Amino acid sequence: MAELLRGKEVAASIKDTMRRDIEALKEEGKIPTLGIVRLGDNPGDISYERSIIKNCDNIGIQSKVFERDLNIKTEELIELIEELNEDQEISGILVFRPLPDHIDDDAVREAISPAKDVDCMHPLNLEKIFEGNLDGFAPCTPKAAMETLKFYDIPLEGKNVVVINRSMVVGKPLAMMLLNENATVTICHSRTQKLDEITRNADVVVVALGSAKFFDEKYFTDRSIVIDVGVSLDEDGKLSGDADLDKVEPLVDKITPVPGGVGAVTTSILLSQVVLACKNM
Ligand code: NAP
Repeated sequence: MAELLRGKEVAASIKDTMRRDIEALKEEGKIPTLGIVRLGDNPGDISYERSIIKNCDNIGIQSKVFERDLNIKTEELIELIEELNEDQEISGILVFRPLPDHIDDDAVREAISPAKDVDCMHPLNLEKIFEGNLDGFAPCTPKAAMETLKFYDIPLEGKNVVVINRSMVVGKPLAMMLLNENATVTICHSRTQKLDEITRNADVVVVALGSAKFFDEKYFTDRSIVIDVGVSLDEDGKLSGDADLDKVEPLVDKITPVPGGVGAVTTSILLSQVVLACKNM
């Protein structure tokens, strides 16, 4: 049976460090504060927002929600972001995405001050990741995957790591972070051929397709370490990862469960970046 790499423990360790940092900031009279920009009232956004606010409250980070109409113009949204950039009480800005189609996504990403860009949307912050500079903000999901690997002491140097995803939110930045740890990285996508041969030869496989239970035992060996970033609903409407846990868990060496794996670390990464932004103010 595989060792389950649970996110709860990773998140707890990140929160311990964060608590000490928040105390030190409070002694200097600084309170880390997250500004959340939400357009409309999509239930998914509302539920994510509630969970962020609860996590902020629990650890001593303030949060302020700026809700705007779904029909807001790009210029009006940029005006709001510029106000938050100037606001000395706001340490970090999170804009919920995807934005409606009529909004110029690039213009919004570029409007956020790189110093308050806790979700790593600004091209300058992403560029740093691609240059191998990991001191600043990072996209939260890839960073959560990296922190999980680090927490469980999974060696990466010289190892074959396969990432199945080439999006800018997950696969590409994650590949750069893994390269930075001297892993040999292969990026796969929907046109990749013989995917099962590639994954069976890997030491670590990161799956992030967004297709419930796609990966069964044919993709892995008893040496495989599987990091499952995918989150979707299976045919019974239950939250599931990309790996079919029932089939894969008895075979592989280690695996992150869904729910309770990488997703449980992501919010802690976001909050730790709010603390970092506050420290740098
Ligand atoms: P995305 O933009 O749709 O990317 C999916 C990737 O999977 C693409 O690169 C796609 O290839 C590839 N792919 C699709 N079908 C494939 C196949 N049959 N074989 C090989 N590759 C295939 O999605 P995303 O935004 O990156 O998110 C991916 C997953 O991660 C989703 O389940 C999402 O819910 C989850 N996610 C989780 C968290 C978290 O905190 N845990 C955060 C963000 C996202 P092409 O490029 O060729 O289309």
